[in-house]
Amino acid sequence: MSALNDTSIQFLKGVGPARKKFFENLGVFTVEDLFYLFPRRYEDRRKITPISQLKPGEWHVVKGEVAAKGGRWTYINKKHLFEIVLMDDKSRVFCTWFNQPYLENCFHPGDQVIVYGKVEVFNHKLQIISPEYEILRSQEELRNSARIVPIYPLTRGITQKYLRKVMAHALERYAAELIEVVPELIRHRRSLAPASESIWHMHFPDDDKAYESAQARVSFEEFFLFQISVILRRLTFIKKSGYSHFIPEGFHQRFIRAFPFALTTAQQKVISEIASDMARKNPMLRLLQGDVGSGKTIVSFFGCMAAVGNGHQASLMAPTEILAEQHYRSFIQYFMDGPFGEVRVALLTSALKKKEKAALYARLKEGSVDVVIGTHALLEEGLEFKQLSFVAIDEQHKFGVKQRALLSSKGFDPDVLVMTATPIPRTLCLTLYGDLDVSVIDEKPKGRGEIKTFHFPGDQAEGVYRRVAEWVRKGTQAYIVYPVIEENEAIDLKAAEDMYVRFKELEFKSFRVGLVHGKLPRGEARVIMEKFKAHELDILVTTTVLEVGIDVPNANVMVIENAERFGLSQLHQLRGRIGRSEKSAVCILLGDPVSDDGKSRLEAVVKTTNGFTIAEQDLEIRGPGQYFGRHQHGLNELRVVNPLTQISILEAARQEAVDLVKSDPSLKKNPLIKQTIKRRYPEYLKRVSAG
Ligand code: ADP
Ligand code: MG
Repeated sequence: MSALNDTSIQFLKGVGPARKKFFENLGVFTVEDLFYLFPRRYEDRRKITPISQLKPGEWHVVKGEVAAKGGRWTYINKKHLFEIVLMDDKSRVFCTWFNQPYLENCFHPGDQVIVYGKVEVFNHKLQIISPEYEILRSQEELRNSARIVPIYPLTRGITQKYLRKVMAHALERYAAELIEVVPELIRHRRSLAPASESIWHMHFPDDDKAYESAQARVSFEEFFLFQISVILRRLTFIKKSGYSHFIPEGFHQRFIRAFPFALTTAQQKVISEIASDMARKNPMLRLLQGDVGSGKTIVSFFGCMAAVGNGHQASLMAPTEILAEQHYRSFIQYFMDGPFGEVRVALLTSALKKKEKAALYARLKEGSVDVVIGTHALLEEGLEFKQLSFVAIDEQHKFGVKQRALLSSKGFDPDVLVMTATPIPRTLCLTLYGDLDVSVIDEKPKGRGEIKTFHFPGDQAEGVYRRVAEWVRKGTQAYIVYPVIEENEAIDLKAAEDMYVRFKELEFKSFRVGLVHGKLPRGEARVIMEKFKAHELDILVTTTVLEVGIDVPNANVMVIENAERFGLSQLHQLRGRIGRSEKSAVCILLGDPVSDDGKSRLEAVVKTTNGFTIAEQDLEIRGPGQYFGRHQHGLNELRVVNPLTQISILEAARQEAVDLVKSDPSLKKNPLIKQTIKRRYPEYLKRVSAG
C-alpha cells in the first residue's frame, strides 16, 4: 500500500502545522489528496505576442499594463464606449468595448491585463474590439509566464504561487511512489500512461500532448473507479426488497381526472412504467428525463398518490423554496378536493418557524401527513416518517447520490424517482446513471406556443429593448437575464444592478421592473419572484439564479444579455422558462461571440428548441478541458474529468469495469481498487453494502 495516503501534508516542505489547516479547507489532508487537487484551469502563457508584432486581421494574446482608460456615451447612436490603452515596452494597443459601462470600474491604470481578440487598424491605431480579458490581480499571477501555468482552486491562506511551489516540491519528492490502481493488463490494453508521470503532467504539463495523455489517464482511472461503484450499487440495489404497492384497476383513470387537460402520450407511458415499478417488490430507482416544460411534476404526483392510496407517505424534494412552493400549490390545486378525496399535504422548507417545524415533524412521524413537499430541509436528521414508500427528487442535477440516499433512508427502501430537465445524451446516460432505470418524456403538452429565438449583436440592444417594451405594453411579462460567473461575481452583479437602475429610469420607465440575484438578503428573492408570478411586476431583471423549473405562463419574452458567456445547455435551460402557455414566445440573445465555439453555440440555440439535439451539439462543440457547464449536467460527483468531452474514455472505462466486476463481484481479488474507491471517492460507495 502506498504511504502517500498516510503521509500528512504537514511534513511537506513549506507547509507545517499552521498552514496544514488551510489545506484541510481544500479537502487536502495527505500527499495523495494534494496530488489529486487538480488545477481548475490552465493558462497558456507561452504564446503572448509583443504589441509591436501584432498583425492586423489576426487573433492574438496580448499582455500589457493599462496606461490609460476612458468611457463615454457617443452622441450619434447613444452607445456607451469604453476604451483602455494597453502598453508593453513602448508599444500601445487600444481595447474597446461597447455598452458595458461597468467596465469603467474594473480597469485601473497600472493593472496588468491579458486580452485576447482580433487586431484591427482604426484611424492608424492598433485596436482590439471587445476582447476577452483577464485582469492579473496579484503579483503571483504574473510569475511563471512563458509556460502553461496551473490555476488552482484557492482558499484563505493559500495563494497560487505558494500552492504551485508546494505542489512542485511534493511531486519531486513523492510522485515516483504513487501506486498504480488500474491493473497492469488494463493499462496495457488501453495504452494508458503511468500514474506518476500523469499526475506530474496534470499539474505542470510541458505541452498540450503531455497534458492530453495525463488527462486521459487520470480520467480513465476516475471513470473506471466510478463505474465499478455504479455497478456495485446497482447489484446491491436489485437484491433489496421494498414495498410492493397495490395499484387497483381504474387508478390511472382516476388520477387523470384530477387535471383539466389530457396527459401527453409520453406522460402516460412514463406513468405506466412507474406503476409497474412500484407494484414490484424490489425498490424502484428511476431517472426521469424530460425537457423543460414537458410536465414532469405531474408524473411525480402519480407516485405520490400511489403511495397514499396504499396508506403510506410520499415526499417530493425540490432544489429551492420557490420550486417547492410551486409544486405544493399545484399539488393542492389538483388533489385538494380531487378524485382521491382529501389528501393531507404539507410544505417543509427552512422558512418554517421552529414551532411549526416541530409540529410538522410530529405529524409526519405519526402519519397524519400523507405528502410532504419541500427543500433540502427534508434531509434533516430529526425528520422521521411513519411509513414513507415513495420519494421524488426534482432537478436531480442539483443533488447527488448522497442526498438521494439520505432521503431514501427516511423510508424503508422506498421507491425513488429522480427527475432532470437536463437531457443526457444516450451515450452518457448508461455510463453515468448505470444504476438507474431511465424514462424519457420526449413530447411537450399540446397547444404550447412556439418559442422563436433570435440573435442580435450587442450594439442593437436599444432596438431590442424598444420591442420588448412594445410586447410588455400588450400584457406579456419579460425576463432580462445577465450572466454571473463565479470568478467574476462582483463585476457581473454590478452590471445587472446598473442595468436595472437604468431600465427603471429609461427604457422601461412606464413598467414595473424588479431585480433578483443571488446576493439578495434571505427571502427577498422569493418575494420578488412571487410578485413577478402574480404579475405585480412586468419585467424581471435577473441573473442565473432564475429557477430552472419556475413556471410563469404569462412570461413570454426573454432577453439574454452577453449570451456568448453562457454554455449551450445553459442557454437552453434559461429559455425553457418561457413558452409555458399556448401563446408564442420570443427569446433574444444579445451578444458578440468572438470565438467560433461561441458563434456555434448561439447558432445552435437559434436553430433548435429540442433539448436532446442541443445536448448532443453541446458535446460536439465543447473542447477538452472545458470545465464550464459541468455542474448543469449533474456530474458533480465526478471530480476530475468532464465526461462530456471524453466519451470514448468513458466507454472504455465502463467496459473494463463491467468485466472486472463480473469476474470479481466482491472485489476480493482487487483489494487495491476497493480501498482506493473507499478512500479517494467515499461518496461513490455510499449505500453499497458490499463495499
Ligand atoms: P417540467 O417538466 O419542466 O418540470 P412542469 O411539470 O413544471 O414541467 O409543467 C409545466 C407546465 O405544464 C405546468 O404548468 C403544468 O401544469 C403544465 N402541464 C403539464 N402537463 C400538461 C399537459 N399534459 N397538458 C397541458 N399542460 C400540462
Ligand atoms: Mg420541473
